[in-house]
Amino acid sequence: MSDLVIRGGSVVTPQGIVDADISIEGEYIVEVASDLPSATREIDASGLAILAGLIDIHLHFNEPGRTYWEGAATGSRALAAGGGTLFFDMPLNSSPCTINAKHFDAKRVALESSSITDFALWGGLVPGNVGDLAELADRGVVGFKAFLCDSGVPEFPRADDLTLYEGMKEAARLGLPVAVHAESDEITKGLSKRIAEDGRRDIAAFLDSRPVIAEVEAIARAGLLARETGCKLHIVHISSGKGVAAALEARSRATDISIETCPHYLLFTEDDLLRIGAVAKCAPPLRCCSERDALWASVLRGEVDVIASDHSPCPPEMKQRDNFFEIWGGIAGVQWTLPALIDKGIDKGLGLTHLAALVSSNGARRFGIDRRGAIETGAHADLALVDLNATQVVRRGSFLQRHPISPYLGMELRGVVRKTIRRGEVIYSDGTITALTPGSLVRPRRVRPKRNRNATSGTNA
Ligand SMILES: [Zn+2]
Repeated sequence: MSDLVIRGGSVVTPQGIVDADISIEGEYIVEVASDLPSATREIDASGLAILAGLIDIHLHFNEPGRTYWEGAATGSRALAAGGGTLFFDMPLNSSPCTINAKHFDAKRVALESSSITDFALWGGLVPGNVGDLAELADRGVVGFKAFLCDSGVPEFPRADDLTLYEGMKEAARLGLPVAVHAESDEITKGLSKRIAEDGRRDIAAFLDSRPVIAEVEAIARAGLLARETGCKLHIVHISSGKGVAAALEARSRATDISIETCPHYLLFTEDDLLRIGAVAKCAPPLRCCSERDALWASVLRGEVDVIASDHSPCPPEMKQRDNFFEIWGGIAGVQWTLPALIDKGIDKGLGLTHLAALVSSNGARRFGIDRRGAIETGAHADLALVDLNATQVVRRGSFLQRHPISPYLGMELRGVVRKTIRRGEVIYSDGTITALTPGSLVRPRRVRPKRNRNATSGTNA
């Protein structure tokens, strides 16, 4: 007799949607089939869609060091309430940032005691730390994140072209991707300086300082360096249809490139930023309707690989400044990725299997996370049980993140997560966190890189 059977749901598998039961033993799925025999425990999932647990490959829980901004205790609970079972934490805005093995170890220890979902860690690529990347790879980072413009935190400086070039060479040798925040420093900084000199500091001025071309130029440059070095490239949070087009152009020239966007670029526009202000400030900024619509079209055509939250919270006071340029740029929405995409995507023709790929399986595959992101025999039992017909109004009390500061506040969204199961354990159930055991570190399977004739040390597989 198995430990748990989830009975009667519509199971979203890589091959399509099937009405089936799911049998779980320990942490793993052992069978997906109709009319499975009884188990020690059963969950009635009739009327619910069952998706693989959401894998949020891009967020900032800011632990250790800035848990008053968020922390994994609150952040992972919000993720779980949104159907998430695994997140990849960015190397900033924790303090210290994850730019060497010692700082990786500190973050791992902190998250092992605070997170209820599983987690993986990004390493950082900053000027001067190319020599630290090998040790970070050995610790188990999923890749290396670099900023091509100012990151907003002084301890995580932007990667100049030489750092990016040499970092990509090293990442290629290590068999890991580099992820870039793609906005041109010269364009954004130059425009910001000129706008400040003109005395403008409002929302429209901020939008003027970060045009779409700053994104397009940076994607093209990163793509060129990735092709030259043979490095796998991941472009985080592409905000515009033109940005996706630039990434596809790089791909057409044999660059191994993956494309990420975020729910907020699909749901909101610059008009929303002008209307609701600081809670919707992010970089790159929200775009005009035509870029938002072009981005949706790219998603529906299958050109976008991954949708991640880029949850980037801060304390309330950092969203309250007279000068809009000084307000923290970051949207906190980790709990609402699935409802947002169900509510806005399904009517546009985004199928559930495609949605599941965007928020789970594609990320697992791209970053070498085995046995996650798919509902099939042998996979980890990471599941989200979702009522596609129910709606919810996002209220202050709905948020499990630390500060209820979010553009999702007040929205009515279709698609309610009823239960989240992480490695066979129900960690969230109908509004309540039920996790009894903590999350653990997930390491990627690294593809053994081609041997460089000049390489002096080997790498693990
Ligand atoms: Zn981010």
